[in-house]
Amino acid sequence: MASSRRMELPTIAREASKKGMELIGTADCTHPKWLEEIKRVSVSDEEIRIDEIYFIPTTEIEDRNRVHHLLILPSVSKAEELAERIAPFGNLEADGRPSVRLNGTELAEIAKDVGALIGPCHAFTPWTALYGYHDSLKSCYGDMTDYISFLELGLSADSDYADRIQDLHRLTFLSNSDAHSPYTNKLAREFTQFDVPELTFDGLKKAILREQGYKATLNVGFFPEEGKYNRSACIKCFTQYPLSEAVENKWRCPVCGGVIKKGVFDRVNELADFKEPKHPEYRPPYLHLIPLAEIIQMALGHASVQTKGVQTAWNKLIERFGNEVKALIYSEPEDLKVVGDDRIVNAILAFRKGNVIIHPGGGGQYGWLELPENLKNEEIRQTGQLSFADLEEINPTKASKPEKNRAKNLRKKPGETEKEKPGNQEPNNTEPDDAGQSSLFDF
Ligand SMILES: [Zn+2]
Ligand SMILES: [Zn+2]
Repeated sequence: MASSRRMELPTIAREASKKGMELIGTADCTHPKWLEEIKRVSVSDEEIRIDEIYFIPTTEIEDRNRVHHLLILPSVSKAEELAERIAPFGNLEADGRPSVRLNGTELAEIAKDVGALIGPCHAFTPWTALYGYHDSLKSCYGDMTDYISFLELGLSADSDYADRIQDLHRLTFLSNSDAHSPYTNKLAREFTQFDVPELTFDGLKKAILREQGYKATLNVGFFPEEGKYNRSACIKCFTQYPLSEAVENKWRCPVCGGVIKKGVFDRVNELADFKEPKHPEYRPPYLHLIPLAEIIQMALGHASVQTKGVQTAWNKLIERFGNEVKALIYSEPEDLKVVGDDRIVNAILAFRKGNVIIHPGGGGQYGWLELPENLKNEEIRQTGQLSFADLEEINPTKASKPEKNRAKNLRKKPGETEKEKPGNQEPNNTEPDDAGQSSLFDF
């Protein structure tokens, strides 16, 4: 319903490998038709694999209070068992993400019974998430709180946001995103790097529970300010308000009379136990990135990621490095020059260092990014990104040393972009670039 019809497991596997992913959540695993697809590509009950890409059954479930939960399951048969358990409480055929008449505690009990891991999805978003309706894990999960092992940060938050809340320190943070379309800039927009003993549910479980030294080693995701509910803002005219002004105006927009929706930024300030984030020692670094094709698009000033210029550069980099992750995070700056355009090299390096100007989103309007005109610009974000030493440490193979290159004058404001004809690269362009995106995302 909300997804591109090209979202089929073999296509996802093919595109995921270009992205540099190795383990993918199937999503929607209690939907009977989708579960048939999952079974069709299964090697065995516990092994779902297409070529080198492994899948694990996962699903989001909306509880009776509109809170979304992520469940990660050990096998196909356990996914079936989960479906049987929740079927009396909702219509599993209506949506890939079922809504059930159960609360968070009841869902966590079922998760435990079927051996699934469970945690809140996109925990800070205002409409359908834990902190939209609760002030603590306990308020949502009750007696089952200790069973919660992870929290999905969502596109509007990062580890710095979440680690201001003491309650969350013991949880593993997942920076995962859902995909409604298989374009590489829509797939794995966010992802988590783990040190695991094996690419199986058990391997992932050990890393999430931090057993035997296995753990998450890097979170990669958007800048939280890009999220469409990052700042408190009017949902009609998108005017943004500091918390004090929103309260003063009783959450009504003085400009147009619309409702002001509280943003993630202010919600975290309300919930925070600490003024500054306090990271537990096992918390991995968080790298703010956007998909490679979008960085290239910004660097070239093109109107979309489907232009021939963007696609040609993207293909060159994938051919050279094998996948996006290697090109974006771990490549030598010198080697990036294979792309043949310094603007692109500089843009990638600017992202690695966090030299990006951010215009926060709010009220349902996404934020947007700009590459800096010069480094003297006061708005340039210099903090929060990884140093080279961090990258070297977390690189499973070997990290490169980013040079002191600087990006310049790269992205124009939306609507002022240069036009170029779409190219005909795979995945093809028979569907609009934003197929299945629009308002159906929760972030
Ligand atoms: Zn959701
Ligand atoms: Zn307004």
